[in-house]
Amino acid sequence: MNKPQRLIVDCARLEAGSVDRIEVVRQCHLDDPGVQGAAVVDGVVDLEVTVRGAGGAYVAVGRVAGTWTAECRRCLEEVRGPLEASMREVFEWEPTEGETWPINDQRIDLAPAARETAMLALPLAPLCSEDCAGPVPERFPTGPAAAARPLITDV
Ligand SMILES: [Zn+2]
Repeated sequence: MNKPQRLIVDCARLEAGSVDRIEVVRQCHLDDPGVQGAAVVDGVVDLEVTVRGAGGAYVAVGRVAGTWTAECRRCLEEVRGPLEASMREVFEWEPTEGETWPINDQRIDLAPAARETAMLALPLAPLCSEDCAGPVPERFPTGPAAAARPLITDV
């Protein structure tokens, strides 16, 4: 197992009130950067977020951008496309599993939050092109006409 990727932001300055926001513009390496046949190319996204305090919590708002790669769902060729997603993640001292992220010692780790944002932006069923016919179009027609055809036809 590799060491988990981290992108730590020290929020002590926010807490002390010496700044009211922290801008983070960084490349962010992601752990395990793929799901279900799609992945972030090189496991890296550009992260651009602003961290603000919000009543004891911290909120990171911004965007992640990168490139995704996936298999065309019809012909299985590689497809790539731009990945861009807005991010809004909340960090709390007592986080809610699956909803908010932990604060540790006034530090937050943006890497897992950025990963989750990127994973949700991956395409579910990409196509290399709208009219991709698949590897054996005559046996497995996949176009709109095939989809519209009823399974059982009355003769
Ligand atoms: Zn295809």
